[in-house]
Amino acid sequence: MNLQASPPPSNLFYQSRQRRPLVGEARGIYIWDADGRRYIDGSSGAMVANIGHGNEHVLDAMRSQMAKTTFAYRLHFENEPAERLARLTASRMPEGLDRVFFVSGGSEAVESAIKLARQHAVATGREGRWKIISRYPSYHGSTLGALALTGMELMSGPFEPMLRQMPKIPAPTCYLDRDDLSMEERGIRYADLLRDEIELQGPESVLGFIMEPVGGAATGALVAPDSYYRRVTEICREYGILLILDEVMSGAGRTGRFLAAEHWDLKPDIVALSKGFAAGYAPLGAMVAQRDIADAVLAAGGFVHGYTYAGNPLACAAGLAVLEEIERLELCANAREVGDLLMAELSGLKARYPFIGDVRGKGLLLAFELVSDPEFMTPLPREIDAHIHLVEEAYSRGLIIYSRRTRGGLEGDHFMVCPPLITSREQVGEIMEVLTASLDAFSDRLDL
Ligand code: PLP
Repeated sequence: MNLQASPPPSNLFYQSRQRRPLVGEARGIYIWDADGRRYIDGSSGAMVANIGHGNEHVLDAMRSQMAKTTFAYRLHFENEPAERLARLTASRMPEGLDRVFFVSGGSEAVESAIKLARQHAVATGREGRWKIISRYPSYHGSTLGALALTGMELMSGPFEPMLRQMPKIPAPTCYLDRDDLSMEERGIRYADLLRDEIELQGPESVLGFIMEPVGGAATGALVAPDSYYRRVTEICREYGILLILDEVMSGAGRTGRFLAAEHWDLKPDIVALSKGFAAGYAPLGAMVAQRDIADAVLAAGGFVHGYTYAGNPLACAAGLAVLEEIERLELCANAREVGDLLMAELSGLKARYPFIGDVRGKGLLLAFELVSDPEFMTPLPREIDAHIHLVEEAYSRGLIIYSRRTRGGLEGDHFMVCPPLITSREQVGEIMEVLTASLDAFSDRLDL
């Protein structure tokens, strides 16, 4: 059956630019379409399938939970998978972060963080605090609260009248700056923009600051200099505002530590998790909060928030088995080791393709950016639509990568190469082979 030729399905969520084949089976880092064509899942979907596809331990855990019960409402019953997953999650968090609130995805996790932060302010007599400062560009989800924090017009444009936009400071795109400062000095300069914004907004109105410690789709694996993280933390503490980390993409081992926060020993007040947390086996996310924050809200009458599917036993059984696999297979260590190799390989491409301007990331959250002039990081002209064409060149050769065109006040095309954390060194070779062939074909399009 040629599905490419069939009309769009009556599926509201059909929105990709191009019809894609029906998915067939998926195993490890590979996905086959219904016609048996194989693809390397070089972006783990949207940085989700961290432990790879078809993991038998997870499937067994889900089967056995399904045989018992798939749903019992949380106001009527506790459930063991949720209890165990909460304990295991808390054990992987920095000291004190041990109150876990389950949700069904990243937007819900961020939404829950916003609401807990606000309720905490009310519970502690600081009603005037309601603004959460975020960064531009950034992506924190598509529900209206999370969207108010998101710095991406593409996503928020039509909804502007309905949003109460939160204040934004520029993301630390230090690699774009052309000045005499060192990277560490630039990091401080970007972090100090947080202080300026707090002062501008009025410190008594500011509730928190949210960031992705390693950037995701909006900035393409953006990592700031160490100085940035130190200074941001100091500023949050100085003004008594909450540090909220959106680790929906960077968490669950993706950067080579369970939380990206660990690279800088960050002590967040609230963390949002999803994506790799259940690695695509079930819709699941979590908001994890400092004990005293959650307890103050509970003492003041309880968290005024909730979702029907929160703490669903089947989703939690999947999440529990995923975390067990991350530990058993030592996937954080593998993400570091294989990530270093992939990073070196991607950096090596710069010598061969003058239009590769920057390669960045941590662990297996990696990206490269295409430019017309690497010295000045001038973006490729929009008309080239590099973010579409290179992805298509790769897709047609059986490699899936993830792309976006956006960057700070400027614009640019970045490509995320983020295979599952189970990827072997040999499989990095496979990815690079297809990527190089795709870049060759793409470069024929360019006349720079
Ligand atoms: N936060 C970050 C950093 C993300 O990357 C995403 C999704 O891409 C979200 C939040 C929203 O997650 P979801 O699409 O599961 O609602």
